[in-house]
Amino acid sequence: MTNKTALPNQNISGEKKGNISWIQCNFCEQWFHSTKELIEFKTIDLYCPNCHEEFKPEKSKKIIIA
Ligand SMILES: [Zn+2]
Repeated sequence: MTNKTALPNQNISGEKKGNISWIQCNFCEQWFHSTKELIEFKTIDLYCPNCHEEFKPEKSKKIIIA
């Protein structure tokens, strides 16, 4: 089971595909930016700029990798 969604066909300019990700905070349900690298570092806490919670990527409500 995963909370990750990869968007298809986002490679408009032929570069930087998969570098920008959207995280949905599990606490306030707001979306914020992160990078794919940070998400895949499972030991690093993501920081929600909206409610100031910190949480591991797998605890986020939803992740979209664009
Ligand atoms: Zn939040």
